[in-house]
Amino acid sequence: HAKRLGVDSFQQFTTEIGEALHSRLALENDIRTALAEEQFSLHYQPQYDAQRRVQGFEALARWRHPTRGWVSPAEFIPVAESSGLIVELGLATLALLRRDLDGWRVRGINCPTVAINLSWEQCRKPQHRERFLQQLRSLRLEPQDVEFELTESADFEDIDTPDSFIFTLQGLGYGLAIDDFGTGYSSLAYLRRMRCRKLKIDRLFVHGLSANADSHMLVESVVRVAHAMRMVVVAEGVELPADEAALVTMGCDLMQGFGFCRPVPPEEVAQLLVT
Ligand code: C2E
Ligand code: MG
Ligand code: MG
Ligand code: MG
Repeated sequence: HAKRLGVDSFQQFTTEIGEALHSRLALENDIRTALAEEQFSLHYQPQYDAQRRVQGFEALARWRHPTRGWVSPAEFIPVAESSGLIVELGLATLALLRRDLDGWRVRGINCPTVAINLSWEQCRKPQHRERFLQQLRSLRLEPQDVEFELTESADFEDIDTPDSFIFTLQGLGYGLAIDDFGTGYSSLAYLRRMRCRKLKIDRLFVHGLSANADSHMLVESVVRVAHAMRMVVVAEGVELPADEAALVTMGCDLMQGFGFCRPVPPEEVAQLLVT
């Protein structure tokens, strides 16, 4: 009997793996189609200073699947990364930003610098880096137009190599931000060496910080360290007025979160800039 059970659960196990693999491959194919048929767009989430003035935006990829509707980046970004499609998606994202910047410009809207998320998979291979730089050049995306966010990760070790893409981008004048700070593995030594312009504290530490002594202490310390390194500090995921007040008291430079504004389509960016 025990043996039978084992065989059954093994079959169920392989069926589950088969299904997971199938849906992953289906998603991969759907992303390929979505790139070809231009189903992706960008939404923009504003970043506010202590006076609640918009000082910048983060561009976030959005995918409207023809049958499934909106698919979350939490679902398609990891698949795009593991399949290598993130390279194409990253180039498409720059083209979408160019289109939106042009649209704003013809309407007389002067948009502050937009941050684009960059995946480590886009930075690893020389031919991918070169295509990215080529795309920036041919779209004429200048350092005042765009900056880049890189999620803190163990890959920060890559910056030891002299031809690091981070330094290439910085050398061209582009601003860089460390994203989701506090969730990865980077050490203070890497922080110092990278000389990024911005540090974005992950919402894991931000949400509810005014009522949580540990979070409050951690965020306050990070703000102080970042400022000592002349970095601009951005708090992510600010939802509560009490957290906003605490962040302002700490001297946190910029805040981003549903408490201020959700990511909006490009048509809605103009009304956020008139204050
Ligand atoms: P991220 O770069 O940390 O972006 C912030 C995420 O937090 C966004 O989720 C945003 O909608 C969400 N968010 C903002 N404020 C709040 C808040 O107050 N509360 C909560 N609960 N969430 C908030 P989204 O758009 O689903 O993106 C998820 C992740 O997918 C991003 O995290 C980023 O790592 C990745 N991603 C999105 N677009 C791109 C892209 O174009 N390229 C790459 N490589 N990654 C992208
Ligand atoms: Mg980001
Ligand atoms: Mg991120
Ligand atoms: Mg983040």
